[in-house]
This record gives sequence, C-alpha cells and structure tokens, in this order.
Amino acid sequence: MRSIPHFVGGRAVEGTSGRFGDVFDPNTGQVQARVALATKSELDAAIADAAAAQPAWAATNPQRRARVMFEFVRLLNAHMDELARLLSSEHGKVIADARGDIMRGLEVIEFACGIPHLLKGEYTQGAGPGIDVYSMRQPLGVVAGVTPFNFPAMIPMWMMGPAIASGNAFILKPSERDPSVPVRLAELMIEAGLPPGILNVVHGDKDCVEAILDHPTIKAVSFVGSSDIAQSVFSRAGANGKRVQAMGGAKNHGIVLPDADLDQAVADIIGAAYGSAGERCMALPVVTPVGEKTAVALRERLIAAIGGLRVGISTDKDAHYGPVVSAAHKARIESYIQMGVDEGSELVVDGRGFTLQGHEDGFFVGPTLFDHVKPSTRSYQDEIFGPVLQIVRAESLAEAIQLPSRHQYGNGVAIFTRNGDAAREFADQVEIGMVGINVPIPVPVAYHSFGGWKRSGFGDLNQYGLDGVRFYTRTKTVTQRWPKGGAVLDQSFVIPTM
Ligand code: NAD
Repeated sequence: MRSIPHFVGGRAVEGTSGRFGDVFDPNTGQVQARVALATKSELDAAIADAAAAQPAWAATNPQRRARVMFEFVRLLNAHMDELARLLSSEHGKVIADARGDIMRGLEVIEFACGIPHLLKGEYTQGAGPGIDVYSMRQPLGVVAGVTPFNFPAMIPMWMMGPAIASGNAFILKPSERDPSVPVRLAELMIEAGLPPGILNVVHGDKDCVEAILDHPTIKAVSFVGSSDIAQSVFSRAGANGKRVQAMGGAKNHGIVLPDADLDQAVADIIGAAYGSAGERCMALPVVTPVGEKTAVALRERLIAAIGGLRVGISTDKDAHYGPVVSAAHKARIESYIQMGVDEGSELVVDGRGFTLQGHEDGFFVGPTLFDHVKPSTRSYQDEIFGPVLQIVRAESLAEAIQLPSRHQYGNGVAIFTRNGDAAREFADQVEIGMVGINVPIPVPVAYHSFGGWKRSGFGDLNQYGLDGVRFYTRTKTVTQRWPKGGAVLDQSFVIPTM
C-alpha cells in the first residue's frame, strides 16, 4: 500500500508513529493509500527545522522572496493537469473543478508576488523637531496552517502565499483525507527555489493540531474547517498567546426576487448548490424565493434542471459532480435527508440510494431538493455539506434579509434581482461576510480578502489579500530624532506631546 510521507527540511520523510489514516478513492470506495499521522516529537522536529531556517529567509530581500513565488506560479501552471488529477483522485471533485481549486490558490500566489510592495511601511518626516517616524512590517517567525479536505490546493495556498512571502516559515497540517496535493505543492516550492525548512508539511489528526496550538515556537495559527473545531482552535491558540484566525462552516442562502432573470438564477443556483457535490463552504444549499409566484416558477425550473444533472466518477468529463469524500460523510448527508423528511419538509427529489453502474461502492449521493423548509428545523440550521438544496420561502425582501442574518453561520449570501435599489439595501443590511449580487459564489478575488461572520469566522483578520499580509506580519514603529548640532534637550518628566 502506498504511504504518503511528511515533507520536512526540503524532502519527503516517512512517518515513524506507526499510526496511519486511510486515504480513499471516493469513486470506488477503496482505500488507495495511507497517510502517516505524526507524533508530537515528529512535529517538534519539523518546527525546529523551520525555526532554524526562518531567520535567513526573513533576511532575504523581499524581491528575491517574490522571485520564488513567480517561479512557483510557473511550476503550478506547468503541473496543472497532474495536480488536478491527483486532487480529484483523493477528493472526488471532477477534474475541471479540481483545476479551479488549484487556480484559485495560484491567484493568491500571484498576489504574493507583489510582496515587496505589500510590505512597504509608512513614513512621516518632521513629526516633531528633528523627529521622523516610520513603520515596518516584520514576519512573526514560525507560523502554522490547518486546512480542511474540501479545497486541498486552494486553502493551503491562501495561507502559504502571504505567510512565506512575508518571511515566515510555515508548517502546514493539511486534511488527512486528501493529503497528497499539499505534499506535491511543497515539492514544487522547493523546485521553485524555496530554502528547505521554510515550508514543512506534517500530517496528523486532532493530536497533531493540539500540539501545534500548544507549541511555544508557533506564533500564529490559521485554521479552516468546521465551526465547533474552529471555535476550540481559536480559544486554545488564543489562550496560548498566539495570533489566530479560524474559519468555520456555512449555510449560504440564495435570495430570488420576483424581478430576477429566472433562467440565469436557476443556472447559477444549480451550479452553486450541486457543484463539488455541495462540499464547498461557499455553496448555496438554501434558496429563498420571495413571493408565491416566484416560488412556484423557481421550483418547477429547479426540478427540470436537476433532471438534467449527471453524477459521475471524477474523471468523467461530462459529469457535473462526483462522489463525496467518504462513506461516513455520505451516511451523514443521507441521515440529514431523513431528518428533513421527519421534520416535515417536502422531499421533492430524493438523492439517497444513488448508485453508479460499475462503481457501486463509490461515495455517491444524488441531487436532493426540499421545499417548504421551516427555519425552525435542525436540517435547515445545520450545515449538511452535500448535494442537498432546501427551498425556504419568504414573503418579502425584509423577511429574506432576516433569514441569513439570523442564521448561526454568516459566510456567503447571494441575491438575484434586476432591482439595484433592492440589491443595495440587501448588501447593506444582511449580516453576512461575503455578498454576491447576481453572483452565486462570491469568493473574493485574491487582492480582496475572504472571511465570514458569526460562526463562520473567528478572529478579526480575513484570509489572503491585505489581511493575509497583516495576519502574518507585525508592525514595528520607529520614532527617531537627530538633533541638530548635538544640542542637549532639557530633561522632561511629562509625556511628550506634539
Ligand atoms: P474538519 O473541521 O473536520 O477538519 C479541518 C481540519 O481540522 C483538518 O485538518 C483536521 O485534521 C483537523 N481536525 C479534525 N478534528 C480536529 C479536532 N478535534 N481538533 C483539532 N483539529 C481537528 O473540516 P473538514 O471536514 O475537513 O472540512 C469541511 C468543513 O470546513 C466544513 O464545515 C466547511 O464549511 C468548512 N470550510 C470552511 C471554509 C471557510 O473559509 N469558512 C472553507 C472551506 C471549508
């Protein structure tokens, strides 16, 4: 059985713990590899290696650090097909979507190529007599990222781009469910010219994450995953005095107003609800038509569009989406469908029991649609993270704004309308971190930043963009005086003011 190693000091390192996680091929349901789960001493060694390498990297001028990023971008493009196939084989998303996963990470690396400009500080000449003030952004040292299974390329790159370009050493603890792409990214970084030790990949589970959160050498932790774990990571790393940002789960709503272009809205909603089998934190698992007429028309078109969906293995070029990540996740999704039925929602299309000929043991779930879902139900309140779309009807725009605003999650939301006034009011009032107006998946571009509100995001700095650079650096402000002619100033016991 193939064994996926850690990556430390610029090379693959076999795990010694004797503990492994299974890595499945979701298309067949078979174990295809095993990944070594690190012990605390293996993690300690990776952190020590990073700490030894970091000062020289921080002292490397930013333009040279940027050159490594430029070369990394070139290598990502050159290896795109290979990376997409590898990603798809462990995650189960279709190849075209796997390329999208890599591209959205690559875009953050492109942003990090601008690091010489991004790190420029501020300067004030003549803040007082002979006094100038300047500030600079310095790296933190050794920092860590813990990432989820659903974007095994993009999310590690959200973090490693700004962290490494800023002069830090980065320890990545990727998801143990699809760990091969993160290791391949580290190999390509070394090929791009990154010194060994600046990017170390350590595989593990809860124990490894907790050791990261408690390790005194780690100065900052970026986490992306489910909300309960995000919250506990936020608390524990914070209590240990670390800088921490922790992104959590989501339940994003798509609001459809009566004046929307319904054909376009349906095309957008279908792609955003079922793409990647719904395993995206920016998926649209809830749709809220406003008014009875809109609801009836929307429902009819959604049913027709679902009828045209093709679920297939991840290498099937014609498939709209592939299997979900694991048997346990498939069972969880199907139990939420049963919960919806038990709670009294109308099950319009049932995706349970879906099998694909020749791939009967694959982790497939068919597209599922519920109507008349009540906001009080648990299947609405919880994140399902599968190909399940719930229609929650509203009578007015005001009610449609309240639904996502009152939900425990606050990651993304979309509104479909031709009415600029309504869209503007919606964007202004809705209590959600990322808003799409006629855009179903409003993941901000790499030079803005990504972050949800409420239980979708703990901490005050977002991922990537300028926030990413701020997160991985700290500001130092220097106030300097060069008195003319060596004049001695009187001693003062009063706080100096300008
Ligand atoms: P997860 O929370 O199970 O795992 C995330 C990471 O935490 C993994 O690396 C895992 O090994 C580690 N981990 C698991 N149990 C842990 C524990 N008890 N203590 C500490 N660490 C632990 O999430 P997942 O299933 O891999 O990913 C799906 C979730 O991630 C969904 O909830 C999804 O919405 C969320 N997500 C959020 C965003 C965002 O930016 N808000 C982006 C992508 C995914």
